[in-house]
Amino acid sequence: QKTRVLLLCGGQSGEHAVSLMSAQSVLAALPASHFEVTPLVIDAAGRWLGRADTARVLGGAQDSAAPVSSELRPYEVAGFDVIWPLLHGPNGEDGTVQGFLTLTGAAYVGSGVLGSAASMDKVMTKQVLASVGVPQVEYRLVTRQAWRSAPESVRIAAGSLGYPQFVKPANLGSSVGISRAAGPEDLEAALDLAFSLDRRVILEAAASHKPRELEVGILGNDAPQASPVGELRFEALFYDYTTKYTEGQASMHIPAPVPAEVAARVRELALTAFKALDCAGLARIDFFYVEETGELYLNEVNTMPGFTTTSMYPKLWEAAGLSYAELVTRLVDLAQEER
Ligand code: ATP
Ligand code: MG
Ligand code: MG
Ligand code: MG
Repeated sequence: QKTRVLLLCGGQSGEHAVSLMSAQSVLAALPASHFEVTPLVIDAAGRWLGRADTARVLGGAQDSAAPVSSELRPYEVAGFDVIWPLLHGPNGEDGTVQGFLTLTGAAYVGSGVLGSAASMDKVMTKQVLASVGVPQVEYRLVTRQAWRSAPESVRIAAGSLGYPQFVKPANLGSSVGISRAAGPEDLEAALDLAFSLDRRVILEAAASHKPRELEVGILGNDAPQASPVGELRFEALFYDYTTKYTEGQASMHIPAPVPAEVAARVRELALTAFKALDCAGLARIDFFYVEETGELYLNEVNTMPGFTTTSMYPKLWEAAGLSYAELVTRLVDLAQEER
């Protein structure tokens, strides 16, 4: 009896294309001996595409994996053992789809409503993690309403953080809409961009001029485990969209060449964060490490991280001895565990 998996991909967010790449990797990796996989593309307008349109968008990638099952109708999720919402960003990774899947009674991969929502919103994440003593950079929350009606108060809030600072939509990923403001003159464009994507914007003090960037993978439900720690290196001023997705612009170093106690602390803080936020299944948790001072800051929690065969999360687990195929199998198993 094969496990029937519905793989939701694409989605309405700015990370639509990233999700499709992840889905193509997962489709090619789920062992056909154990799984029957049905991919379903959610288009940029939020429509759930049928089988023919999904095949067209994914470019036939589904043919290389387990056979595709029945025709689908939009929002029809019955008849599957596990649903994998391999979606990033708003309306995918933020608890909305998870709420819908919870109502259908389906088992699904990854965090539930609370863990997804609390981890997606960078301000909420900071508030929860502050309550359990996780070190984070200084930040300010600003709303679109405030930027429209009292821009001077927003400028004052920003000024209190110093420069450079980072301006981010509170609920996005892949660095979409993020700017590094080198001085007050960069604020207007940075805020306009961020507010074009979200009503909530977070302003963050820079961890340092150029902190080292460490990432760790968490796997499990109520007894989660941490992977080895990885490091990202790149020439750009920060890890922006182009640097993330242009071949050759960034390199991954696993394990990260940092002192053993730094790696241990990253893993411990990541597990604390995963539990405090009520995450489940998986998360990739990003850190800044300021080598000169030894400071470590938790940057953010990604409950559905990039999942191509060359993405950091699967690479971290590969370093722990878990192959890509074993990892996806484990995630489908974790979805079916009682939790
Ligand atoms: P992901 O694709 O990992 O989900 P994201 O869109 O959620 O990314 P962040 O990880 O918050 O965005 O920020 C993107 C990048 O911007 C970081 O990897 C880092 O290079 C830079 N950055 C963000 N915040 C800071 C900060 N406070 N100090 C220094 N650099 C920062
Ligand atoms: Mg993120
Ligand atoms: Mg993300
Ligand atoms: Mg990040």
